[in-house]
Amino acid sequence: MTDSSSIPNPGSADTSRYDPLELEGRWQTLWRQKGIDRTPQSSSTQKPFYALSMFPYPSGSLHMGHVRNYVITDVIARVQRMRGDAVLHPMGWDAFGLPAENAAIERNIDPGLWTDRNIEQMRAQLGRLGLSIDWSREQATCHSDYYRWTQWLFLELFEGGLAYQQDATVNWDPIDKTVLANEQVDAEGRSWRSGALVEQRQLRQWFLRITDYADALLDDLDRLDGWPERVRTMQANWIGRSRGAEIDFSTGGDQPQTITVFTTRPDTLFGASYLVLAPDHQLVDQLCSLEHQDQVTAFRDLIADLSTQERTSDDRPKRGIPIGAEVINPANGEPIPVWIADYVLADYGTGAVMGVPAHDERDFLFARRHELPVRQVIQVPGTDEHNSDGQAWTGPGVMIHSGPFDGLTNEEAKQTITATGAEAGWARAKVQYRLRDWLISRQRYWGCPIPIIHCSSCGAVPVPREDLPVELPRNIDLSGKGGSPLLQQEDWLQSFCPNCGNSARRETDTMDTFMCSSWYFLRFADPNNTELPFAAEAANHWLPVQQYVGGIEHAILHLLYARFFTKALRDRGLVDVDEPFERLLTQGMVQSITYRNPATGRYVAPDHVVDPGDPRDPDSGESLEVLFEKMSKSKHNGVDPAAVIDRYGADTARMFILFKAPPEKDLEWDDADVEGQFRFLQRLWRLVDGVTSARSQSPSGPAPLRLDQQLPERPADLSETETTVRRAVHTAIQAVSEDLSGELQFNTAISELMKLSNALSGNLDDLREPIACEAISVLVRLLAPFAPHLAEEFWLQLQGDGSIHQQPWPSHDPEALVLDTIELVIQVKGKLRGTIQVPADADKHTLEQLALASEVAEKWLEGKAPRRVIVVPGKLVNLVP
Ligand SMILES: [Zn+2]
Repeated sequence: MTDSSSIPNPGSADTSRYDPLELEGRWQTLWRQKGIDRTPQSSSTQKPFYALSMFPYPSGSLHMGHVRNYVITDVIARVQRMRGDAVLHPMGWDAFGLPAENAAIERNIDPGLWTDRNIEQMRAQLGRLGLSIDWSREQATCHSDYYRWTQWLFLELFEGGLAYQQDATVNWDPIDKTVLANEQVDAEGRSWRSGALVEQRQLRQWFLRITDYADALLDDLDRLDGWPERVRTMQANWIGRSRGAEIDFSTGGDQPQTITVFTTRPDTLFGASYLVLAPDHQLVDQLCSLEHQDQVTAFRDLIADLSTQERTSDDRPKRGIPIGAEVINPANGEPIPVWIADYVLADYGTGAVMGVPAHDERDFLFARRHELPVRQVIQVPGTDEHNSDGQAWTGPGVMIHSGPFDGLTNEEAKQTITATGAEAGWARAKVQYRLRDWLISRQRYWGCPIPIIHCSSCGAVPVPREDLPVELPRNIDLSGKGGSPLLQQEDWLQSFCPNCGNSARRETDTMDTFMCSSWYFLRFADPNNTELPFAAEAANHWLPVQQYVGGIEHAILHLLYARFFTKALRDRGLVDVDEPFERLLTQGMVQSITYRNPATGRYVAPDHVVDPGDPRDPDSGESLEVLFEKMSKSKHNGVDPAAVIDRYGADTARMFILFKAPPEKDLEWDDADVEGQFRFLQRLWRLVDGVTSARSQSPSGPAPLRLDQQLPERPADLSETETTVRRAVHTAIQAVSEDLSGELQFNTAISELMKLSNALSGNLDDLREPIACEAISVLVRLLAPFAPHLAEEFWLQLQGDGSIHQQPWPSHDPEALVLDTIELVIQVKGKLRGTIQVPADADKHTLEQLALASEVAEKWLEGKAPRRVIVVPGKLVNLVP
């Protein structure tokens, strides 16, 4: 949290001439003209450093969440440049997708035009933030010079057997009228984008074989120690690897059928008291007895409209019915009944599970609801043989009621029961994943066309690479009705089979936009390549991204897809790296105050609130709740970045955002704190102005400081003020440098800048030139990544060489940090008995020796060794006789 007391009091602002709008505009123009943010050539000997923000969807307006994201990345890019790295810091647009298509339908405008207009606007808005972006590398995924290569990469995956078409039960979004990948349906079964309850449909769709990489995606998470633990855990859970066994249950009889189940608990096999099939499992109709057929049909109708999430969610009772059949438990030969139930899915695992109520909570609830037997086979540690507390025991224990396996631990039994079953032919060790293949087909217009031609003789034939791009037809009628608009483009649809030359039809599905964003970081490494999506040499030079910055909402979607893509392209020989993002920072949200009427749930705009001291609804007079929530239109709590820049300038906006909270924490907007940062910059202005115009009122006082002059050597005989100032300067270098390495702590870095400016205030006139120049030069360099315009202006005023942003990052002089001596308190049995002067950097052992040798010790210990010595370095030594 911010300690507002640490914001310096600016005093009266009468002499301030700090005009941020004028100087920021001037520097932005100059930087652009000089191309100062251009990426150095790949051949340079500097260490490459790739700093990347997750690129935005071009909605047309920049919001404060964007500002936070891009300012964080910009500070990192600027610091690394000053540290001597060759920095790649690009920006682009994730520009395909439904909002453009929906806007086009509403406004009757071409989605391409709408998108390009938005990009123009947002580029201009970004330009005002003073971001050191290399705009010569800009990419927009909806432009054919980009999506041509998305298609090219699709063909790579297709040829590598990683893209395929299949009939499947898929998630259908009835509002956006398209299918969705599993990752795009939330825990409540709603679309990530439209919020609609997702329906299940049977459709022929394109998939990417991400499951081939399940192990690699999971195992390599361990190497991503520069990622937040939370994101790694979310990905691991999503991939959901479970180790267990497949077990075959036979129906017995003359023509036995085998039903295979997967279980992570083969140790509980003797406790299986029923078996459940998915209602649409292929064996249900065959096994179902005559008298159960009507019930099975009725049950299937009942659950037809439920989403996967609704069927499997933990918080609602599971429904099921018996189908009048039995199978044999292979472990003990006992018959158990076969049921169908909503929570078992045909396309997950084998579509069949064994029910072990004694050792599984879901099975326990199901068994109790349907009066099925509960058979305990693992003894609850510390209890009698029978655990009767009315719930499932899912922990470890010793095997009981399990024939030859009794007495083993259940972990041992997992192995031995599987091994025994393997020998007998009814069990196999097996690893299973929660991760499904990635469904990339979308039945919408504004996306990258899938480069496939369907031929009645040859099937799905890839478009030859030399014919790419398959251009999206433009200026078409988007009514929003009647399926994919591409299905109605007869001219576009008609094509010829690249294989046999017969007339054929184009694929009308477009790609999930997450495909376009799964490789854009590779294109930035080689943005103008017209032969390939990127040259391996360029990609290998810049990748992996050393610091990626973006929202936690992409923890599974984009970040998992991008990792998969990188690994797949590595295996196709296109790039050497196998993880795209070395370090990941997920910035917190930007929140601001909201007023909500708890009775109606309605949000009231702050300027409509009656009596902010005791906020009330303007219509009803009811009392309002006051909360901090993520900025959004619907909550009337957005703060427009442009308005803040108009009032205070971009440097103040940047400083506030960086200072108000650590980067990964949520940030609460506070106008007073914005004002505080503005005053701090004004104070710096006066400080620098004071030393550049004249260092003293008196004509005989020191001359203005200039950094372009040959200075005398730093004198050896520093005054007390000079020593103190040098210590403050080098302490700041050390502290700010640490805050900008590893765990990025911009907020404390800015606090250090404030401390330094306090230490310099009022002292600069008393310093000799070498000391004063060092101090002011360091202050400006440390400020440069945070407030780039103001620092550049200071550098100009100080006659510094070139641009401040091309100066080396300062390094601290350890000698300057040394405090010569300090006063050490000596206690005897906790009572103050005297003090001695000791070297300030003395370690614990030295302090103990000095204390024992002191006159104080001699007097109070009377020559005896103390029983105990407690040393608090820098403070005291306590002698306990
Ligand atoms: Zn053909």
